[in-house]
Amino acid sequence: METDSLLVAQAQTDTSHQQIWERCLALIRDQVSTLSFKTWFQPMVPLKLVGEELTIQVPSQFFYDWVEEHYNTLIRNTIIAILGQNARLYYSISSEERQEELFPVAENFSPSLAPIQYAPFSPHILMRAEHLPQTQSNLNPRYTFENFIKGDSNQLARAAAMAVGNNPGGTSFNPLVIYGGTGLGKTHLMHALANYALAAGKAKRVVYASSEKFTVDFVEAIQTDKVTEFSNFYRSMDLLVVDDIQFFAGKEKTQDNFFHTFNTLYQLGKQIVLSSDVPPKELKGLDERLISRFQCGLTADIQPPDLETRIAILQKKSEENSLELPQGVLEFIAANVTKNIRELEGCLISLLARASLENREINIDLARDVLRVVVNEVRTPITIEQIQRTVCEFFDLPEDLLRAKTRKQEVVIARQVAMYLAKDLTNASLKTIGLHFGGRDHSTVIHAYQAVEDRTQTDTQFRQNIEHLKRKLELSSR
Ligand code: ADP
Ligand code: MG
Repeated sequence: METDSLLVAQAQTDTSHQQIWERCLALIRDQVSTLSFKTWFQPMVPLKLVGEELTIQVPSQFFYDWVEEHYNTLIRNTIIAILGQNARLYYSISSEERQEELFPVAENFSPSLAPIQYAPFSPHILMRAEHLPQTQSNLNPRYTFENFIKGDSNQLARAAAMAVGNNPGGTSFNPLVIYGGTGLGKTHLMHALANYALAAGKAKRVVYASSEKFTVDFVEAIQTDKVTEFSNFYRSMDLLVVDDIQFFAGKEKTQDNFFHTFNTLYQLGKQIVLSSDVPPKELKGLDERLISRFQCGLTADIQPPDLETRIAILQKKSEENSLELPQGVLEFIAANVTKNIRELEGCLISLLARASLENREINIDLARDVLRVVVNEVRTPITIEQIQRTVCEFFDLPEDLLRAKTRKQEVVIARQVAMYLAKDLTNASLKTIGLHFGGRDHSTVIHAYQAVEDRTQTDTQFRQNIEHLKRKLELSSR
């Protein structure tokens, strides 16, 4: 009782943001591991407290994303516990402080309110759009040319984007269409272009929209009888950026509206920038007249990055987040994650998370563990049974012969090969392997291994058979 009233008294007097945050930390500290606490909570800096609105500074966007995804509930409950039901928390990202952008964690902490709806493609853009009406352009300041790593794979697209950003509507690259696979930097580059054009005063009215957003807004405009307003809005832009136009497929009315928007802007000498996952001429379900419009400017592709570029990207992302990763780890990730830059980032995040949550050192072993999970290359371990089956299929023998006593030459060879592969491809001990082959002892397994190993040195056909079997088993375990 006495403690309670003490706490209340304290709450009334402790109003400085530092003190409030200290009290939050005291609660949080008990609920997370020491390493997590040090990694994620100690770096947070309380900035101000206005009424029940607390603003916390975090070091980077990456940091914010992580905390938001993993500790949102914990932080929310903590703040409510300390500041009451009407508490609100805002994040300020220090690397973007110049933009003076704040990210509210939620509209309101009251659980009765609906959570923010995240758009699957870019939550931050939506958050900004919802909460910061002044950023009408929907641009994400996080994406700039400075933090876009240049490589052979994106050279043309990047150069074109820079030229267009510098002189929107004034180059022959109109429209500029950037195409390429998912996670290769199309969205990043388009935001960079638009951010640059806006900041450098090359374009005043700029808007970024995904084709989905364009479609949804258009449908809503029809329903609310505001098609004219909708059309006027987009047709008043100096720079119109529409992402992922493949989603226009099959949406005829939207396409029709977009066609007219395109023509209006084009005739006014305004810049249009589009992205797609395939070259325009391969777009399915799009009106021919649109496709031919898309082809009258420059079409630039982004290819998967080469190894050097992937390493450079990882280095940049680590730097941005003040992480120091051993070069070997960076190279290991870059060598294994080849097709998608988003996955590269995902690996980095998971690596940090695993290190932090499991209290492990960041090294190649940890990286290997992370890769298994992140890169959809979750290898299920190969089993001895699987090896026996595959080997017997290959030699066209019944499986039980491997466990039988027979010393027939062909069976002996198949058995030795299976033992060899079991030793090579599984973690099973020699004893376990022996048991799987009719209870033979470990020296038999060693002997088999050696025999196979020796024969691969001299018999090319045999070696090729072994390699074939290995590949087959490894493929089936992906
Ligand atoms: P896409 O739109 O092609 O699917 P994004 O633009 O969303 O891909 O890129 C995925 C992630 O990879 C983003 O976080 C982006 O910042 C990053 N990224 C892509 N290309 C580069 C690059 N060249 N340099 C730095 N980061 C990159
Ligand atoms: Mg994209």
